[in-house]
Amino acid sequence: MPELPEVETVIGILKPLIIGKEIQKVEVYYDRLIQSNLDTFKTTVINKKITSITRYGKYIYIHLSDDFVIITHLRMEGKFRYLDKGNQRIKHTSAMFFFKDGTYLSFDDTRKFAIMYLTNEAELPTLPMISKLGVEANKVEEKDLPELFKKFNKNKPIKELLLDQSILCGIGNIYADEICYATKLNPYTKGKDISKEKIIEITKQAKIILNKAIELGGSTIHSFHPSEGVDGKFQEVLMCYGREGELCPRCSTKFHKDFIGGRGTTYCPNCQINHELEKAIGITGPIGSGKSTALNYLKEKGYRTYSADEIVHELYRKPHIQRKVSSIIKAPFDIDNKELTLKARKILIAFPERNKELQNYIHPLVENEFLNILKSEDNPVFEVPLLFKAHYEYMFKKILVISISKEQQLKNLASRNENIETSKKLNYNFEYPKDNPKIKVVEATGNFETFYKNIEKALD
Ligand SMILES: [Zn+2]
Repeated sequence: MPELPEVETVIGILKPLIIGKEIQKVEVYYDRLIQSNLDTFKTTVINKKITSITRYGKYIYIHLSDDFVIITHLRMEGKFRYLDKGNQRIKHTSAMFFFKDGTYLSFDDTRKFAIMYLTNEAELPTLPMISKLGVEANKVEEKDLPELFKKFNKNKPIKELLLDQSILCGIGNIYADEICYATKLNPYTKGKDISKEKIIEITKQAKIILNKAIELGGSTIHSFHPSEGVDGKFQEVLMCYGREGELCPRCSTKFHKDFIGGRGTTYCPNCQINHELEKAIGITGPIGSGKSTALNYLKEKGYRTYSADEIVHELYRKPHIQRKVSSIIKAPFDIDNKELTLKARKILIAFPERNKELQNYIHPLVENEFLNILKSEDNPVFEVPLLFKAHYEYMFKKILVISISKEQQLKNLASRNENIETSKKLNYNFEYPKDNPKIKVVEATGNFETFYKNIEKALD
């Protein structure tokens, strides 16, 4: 669907082609395109000259002589097509303007949602479809802000509010996602929870993003017939829209895609944090550091506890997941078969790229399990060895990072009856972002009592 920059691009193309042309007649092949009286439309435009073309939001105004104006909205698929010879009507042509110099302007629309409406300059601003529009998203001035603060103060997700043309006019799905990403706003954030400073930031970013898009000719090429060679370059610089499954350029977390208000919405869960999800307590740390001990301690204290390893274990039991894992590691796989599991571990150590592929496959599945738990629980504890590698930080209000001396770690591993050499290759050298304010480092000692005390202190 064309948005403000695309509509601006269409106008830029149309201007030199049709301004100054005189209309000889118009043929309408799809009557419902014309929302004003059809006969009046057809008779009035005859002998009128196109004097200028302007735009408000996504509406195009074709100004005619004698103060008449044709308003048009391209909606999903409306396209103009300029022809300098022959009436090349195609299957989806809804209307054809014939100019006195023998040229044509075809209006094609495969989806038939586009509209045209004939009015005059005096009535134009009072028409309901126009008068309800908010300020143009790329032209917000300081005087518009008080009204915007009021309009954004709603119990609806910001994603929906950005698409509401009566608040800011001209933003569609692409730019709404881009604006949320640029301002680090989670698209689910309710308008009423957004500060005035943040709204000002939204208007600033909207201006930057839309003007940049206008400069680059917009993102889509559908608003004008491709034969005209219109090719918007903005899609090449889109930061988040359409990048579902790719990595966020800011923090390397995988972009999520959800549907908000029925519209596909791409965002980075980690730098566009949904504060309503920051509910869990995380336990993480290197292998053999005592994560399970910490988890069990909190379980005894009455917390609901979940281990990522156990969740993964359960997932691996599902036949379709088992098949997928087997195809990734290129070996038979059965989590309940000790021998095969050991073999799988060795393969993952020997082939880091398979390990990476497996992690990329399994992390989002575990993430979904966690998110489901968060829907019904407010204070769960998740033990996640790869919490930072999987970029799950956004689900936590507090993350306990267990720190242990190498000496004690080796002791712990030895007591587990596991192959130390194998274990050492699995999350042995644990790293974490030192600057994350959610992190509390918990010293693990050989002494349970001090370890528990340290956990209590971290939770305080
Ligand atoms: Zn990010």
